[in-house]
Amino acid sequence: MGDFLIDQYERDSKLAIQHNYLTLQFGDSQEILNDIGELLRTGDFTLGKVVREFERSFAKLVHTPYAVGVGSGTDALRLSLLALDLPEGAAVATTPFTFVATVGAIATAGLTPLFVDIADDLNLDPCKLNSVRSEVQACVPVHWAGRPIDISEICRQLPEIPIVEDACHAVLATNRGKYAGSQGTMGCFSFHPLKNLNVWGDGGIITTSSEELAERLRLLRNHGLSGRDQCEEFALNSRLDSIQAIVGLHMLGKLEDITERRRRNAALLDQALAGVDGVRLLPRRENEYEVFHLYQAICEDRNGLRSYLVEQHIDAKIHYPIPLHLQPAARKLGYQRGDFPVAESVCDSVLSLPVHEFIEERHIDYMAAKIRAFYDVR
Ligand SMILES: *Cc1c(COP(=O)(O)O)cnc(C)c1O
Repeated sequence: MGDFLIDQYERDSKLAIQHNYLTLQFGDSQEILNDIGELLRTGDFTLGKVVREFERSFAKLVHTPYAVGVGSGTDALRLSLLALDLPEGAAVATTPFTFVATVGAIATAGLTPLFVDIADDLNLDPCKLNSVRSEVQACVPVHWAGRPIDISEICRQLPEIPIVEDACHAVLATNRGKYAGSQGTMGCFSFHPLKNLNVWGDGGIITTSSEELAERLRLLRNHGLSGRDQCEEFALNSRLDSIQAIVGLHMLGKLEDITERRRRNAALLDQALAGVDGVRLLPRRENEYEVFHLYQAICEDRNGLRSYLVEQHIDAKIHYPIPLHLQPAARKLGYQRGDFPVAESVCDSVLSLPVHEFIEERHIDYMAAKIRAFYDVR
């Protein structure tokens, strides 16, 4: 881990404190490689024993009866929406403040995204669902940045409406003790390399408490085949690879530690930034166990601060600068600036600081000192 030291990076004029930690994470992977070697001897490459083992372990982890491994988080969302059998073009409520994949999945499932503004915790504001209640036929709330949204509140606002949780940021997060991905009709997770639980490429999973939906999803991910020569419905190919399931099983063993480190780093940053003029911290609540896929704060002169931090070798990032209703891809939907004032203002002022498991207390101190310096000298 020597190459992660601030001094060395400063000498090299690279970013000292980075968001990307992947070269550190898999430095020693002999155990995983041994298991992959074992797999080579069996030829069990698609939907075999190890995928079932991973599905069982994952379902247990987030306290749901069933889990179905798929090719990516995006496919998890898309297959879940397809499994609902909604009419073509049906409106699906979601947040304009998310990664594009949430809305890409809705659109490519033949449905119409209907945006609802966020609250000051950056999650979709359940109170605002009331005004779209009569229009929407499903809802895709996102547990943004690892903050678990209150799914029971969404169910209260949208009775009888199916809920597909985008839990791609939120593995292990809980709201009032309920795990993200365990309360909606289905929960969707991504194992993309930069997610909290990650594999060596793409992977995803869908959780559900419905045996019927789990069976349907198993068909949808595998050409609709119920047997070698029997096709129940024409469908897709989106399976979780056996190799990725092996990596996932290994990472499951580290997830609690990764989560605790992220939470500790976030708490240290909260402490270090409390009272800094120009920085507004996000609310922290007793009933929410956040897992900090991202650590975000609302910052005055955000773009100025970000440039300054990058000069100081801190990889401060913006997730994301443009709300989805203002993307060129959303033109057809007919939204305009001003439609979602909270999301728009957050996109102009939000900043992410790295808090992953390789960030240490001295990195936190360094970041906080530079942020204070920026606001002091303004
Ligand atoms: C990463 C992500 C996805 C998509 O996951 P992939 O595995 O990259 O397809 C969906 N929604 C959110 C909020 C994400 O961050």
